[in-house]
Amino acid sequence: MPTYEYRCLDCSKRVSIYQSYEDYGVIPVQCPLCGGDNLQRLISRVRFARSEESRLEDLADPGNWGDIDEEDPRALARMMRKMGEELGEEMPPEFDEVVERLEAGEDPEQIEKSLPELGDGGGETDFEI
Ligand SMILES: [Zn+2]
Repeated sequence: MPTYEYRCLDCSKRVSIYQSYEDYGVIPVQCPLCGGDNLQRLISRVRFARSEESRLEDLADPGNWGDIDEEDPRALARMMRKMGEELGEEMPPEFDEVVERLEAGEDPEQIEKSLPELGDGGGETDFEI
């Protein structure tokens, strides 16, 4: 059963009250100390434990990478390196090669064409991990 934190406005004490989810908001709560019913719900700070999955989704979302100029191979290379570091996994050899060629200023589309396994050939600069 979850615990709800309240402040009793009658006795100014902070109290914890057990209530089931069904009862919460339905059955009026009473202060266990003074019996008063002027209880103010204290909303505790909620920390969202982010799952690994959502973290990876964030990484995959270009919107989280700031201003990446997709026309700038070096910016792409930086992004890919960062992504590789964040993932903390061994990247395939192609990954390093692509990053190095991007850093050398090569056109991403040309790189992709020479590495067909990295893309679907649709001219996108996306890559799959
Ligand atoms: Zn009270």
